[in-house]
Amino acid sequence: MNYRHAYHAGNFADVLKHALLCWIVRYLQRKVAPLVLIDTHAGAGSYDLTAPEAGKTGEANDGILRLLSRADAPPPLSNYLDLVRAANRANAAPTIYPGSPALFAALARAADRVVVCERHPDDASTLTRTLRGNRRVRVVTGDGYRALLALVPPVEKRGVVLVDPPFEEPDEFEYLARMFVAAHRKWPTGTYLLWYPLKERDQAARFTAELAGAGIRKLACVTIDVDRNEGLSAMGLVLCNAPYTLEQDWAEALPWLAAALAQGPGAAATFERLTPD
Ligand code: SAM
Repeated sequence: MNYRHAYHAGNFADVLKHALLCWIVRYLQRKVAPLVLIDTHAGAGSYDLTAPEAGKTGEANDGILRLLSRADAPPPLSNYLDLVRAANRANAAPTIYPGSPALFAALARAADRVVVCERHPDDASTLTRTLRGNRRVRVVTGDGYRALLALVPPVEKRGVVLVDPPFEEPDEFEYLARMFVAAHRKWPTGTYLLWYPLKERDQAARFTAELAGAGIRKLACVTIDVDRNEGLSAMGLVLCNAPYTLEQDWAEALPWLAAALAQGPGAAATFERLTPD
């Protein structure tokens, strides 16, 4: 359990993951029926971009901080960027980056319910402190995969699950696939976002092929590669039951994001349907 998200908060991967997350939640909130929002691997909740951890990698400089200085972000990014701005003081340089739990908490309406799970004891206590006082949010300290299987199907019947593991374990791809298939069997109509690193392309291709072969419909995949020379350069998100307009609504936003976050000439973003609707 060495991974700490404080070193990576607000990087290019957070930007795509959180922008899609916010867009999907807002889309589902067009209906008044309540949602459950589940974050299986929550991290510390919110991050200080001036802290030594963030300073050590500087990853937010090539992530969220690039976007906040742009006035031409396409409409699908608006909700996300507004929430990041709202987490910061007006007319001051941004210093706070809201992680997925803080974004879920900000997105939740009065009748929505948020459950966030974190296994690392230090991050779990920071998370509890960060979200203290928000009656819509429950923090679970422990294994998010196990918690997910216990939480679904939810009483609300509608909702979004983010599964965002640190990929420290050698079998994380296999485990993620197995747990998702098990959760989907219990709750086939939930909307799921599964994050994965695109380092070894064969392994990622096997992962998406395994999911596509599991008989699950409405699977899609979004990727971004910022063409970075060191560390993580590319990531993917498998989406299940995402709004059907996503491909069209993000047709301009994805290439715009890839260009805005590019660190080399090969930067690109893709959308692919893995299984039919
Ligand atoms: N979702 C967060 C966000 O977007 O702001 C970032 C999460 S970070 C990539 C992954 C987190 O998962 C780490 O904080 C790590 O401690 C935690 N973690 C690792 N294994 C876990 C498990 N089995 N259950 C819950 N949390 C776990």
